[in-house]
Amino acid sequence: MIAPGATIGILGGGQLGRMMAIAAAQMGYRCHIFAPEKESVAADVSASFTCAEWTDTAAMARFAEDCDVITWEFENVPVAALSAIPEEMLRPHPRALEVAQDRLAEKQFVESLGGQPAPYAEVDTREDLDRAVDRIGAPGILKTRRDGYDGKGQWRIASQREAEALNLQQGGFVYEGMVGFDAEFSVILVRAMDGEIRYWDSAENVHDHGILASSTLPARARVEDEVLAARALAAKVAEALNYVGVLTLEFFATSAGPVFNEMAPRVHNSGHWSIEGAATSQFENHIRAICVMPLGDTATTGSEITMTNVIGADALTAHQYLSDPAAHLHLYGKSEPREGRKMGHVTKVVR
Ligand code: AMP
Repeated sequence: MIAPGATIGILGGGQLGRMMAIAAAQMGYRCHIFAPEKESVAADVSASFTCAEWTDTAAMARFAEDCDVITWEFENVPVAALSAIPEEMLRPHPRALEVAQDRLAEKQFVESLGGQPAPYAEVDTREDLDRAVDRIGAPGILKTRRDGYDGKGQWRIASQREAEALNLQQGGFVYEGMVGFDAEFSVILVRAMDGEIRYWDSAENVHDHGILASSTLPARARVEDEVLAARALAAKVAEALNYVGVLTLEFFATSAGPVFNEMAPRVHNSGHWSIEGAATSQFENHIRAICVMPLGDTATTGSEITMTNVIGADALTAHQYLSDPAAHLHLYGKSEPREGRKMGHVTKVVR
C-alpha cells in the first residue's frame, strides 16, 4: 500500500491531472506534476511541479526520486521518457501507453481479443489510400496513427474523388470506414492490483466535430443492450495488459453490436459525471487503485445525470449554469479560452 502522506507523481499537467490531484489531496496524498507546459492547471492544485521537456531525463529522474508512485493523465507521454523511472513505480504499466498511442496497434490488439473495430487499413502512401477507399468504401475518416485528440489529425473523406485530392506529405495514418451508429458510449472500469474490476454505468456520449459535447445517464436502451458485451471486451483488454487504474474504451452502438472506436489508458472526459453522480468518482478510484487501497463503490447516485463540456469562449459565461441548483460547475483554470479548447464542464444531477 502507498500510504496517505506519500507523493503521487502525475505525468501531464491538464485538467485530468488536476481532478486526479484534487481527489488525491482529499485522501491525504501530495501530488507532483511533470509537464512541459508552463501553464499546467494540474500544478495549480498540487504540491510540486517539474516543468521540463519529456526528453529531459535528468529532470525525469529527479522527479521520480521525489515520488512514491507515478501515473499519467496524458496518453501521449513519449514512452522513451519513462525509461528514467523505475518500472515498478509506474501504474498502469507503460505497455498500455504503447498500445493506446498507435491507432493501428490499438485496433490490432483489441481485434486479437475478439473486439470488432470499424473496417480499417494502414495508410502510408497515396496508393495505400486509394486501395483503402476502394476496399472499405467512402465515406470514411483518415486519422493519424499517433498524437491525434479531440478530432485533431482527422480528415473526413466523403468520396473517392475527395481522397484523390488529399496530398499525403508523410506516412503514418489509418483509414476507417464511417460507422453508421445509433449511439456512442464508453465503458470506464477500474482494475485493482489484485485483479478486481469495477465498472461505472455507461453514459451516452454526443460528439461535436470530434470533441465530446455531453455525456448523459441513463443511456438509451440502444446502449444498455450493448454494454455487457462491451464490458466483457474492456475486461479482456485490462487483463491482457495486467492493468492497474482506470481504463476507458469508447464504442459505437450498432445493429451489429458494439463497434470498438478507441481506448484511453486513463481517466476519461465521459466519466467526469462520476464526481457528483457516482458513489466514488473515476479520479478517486484511480488513486485508490494505484495506491493499492480498496476500491470504492462505483454505483450511480442520481436518477438523471448530464455532463456538458464548457468549450472555448463559453467559459466566460459558464457561471450562469449555477442558476440551476442541480448544476455543479468545474472550471479548469486555463487562461485562454481558445476555440475548441476544453475549459471546464458542468454536471447536472437529478437525485
Ligand atoms: P476519435 O478521435 O477517433 O474518437 O473520433 C472522435 C469522434 O469522431 C467519435 O467519437 C465519433 O463521433 C466520430 N468518429 C470517429 N471515427 C468514426 C468512424 N469510423 N465512424 C463514425 N464516426 C466516427
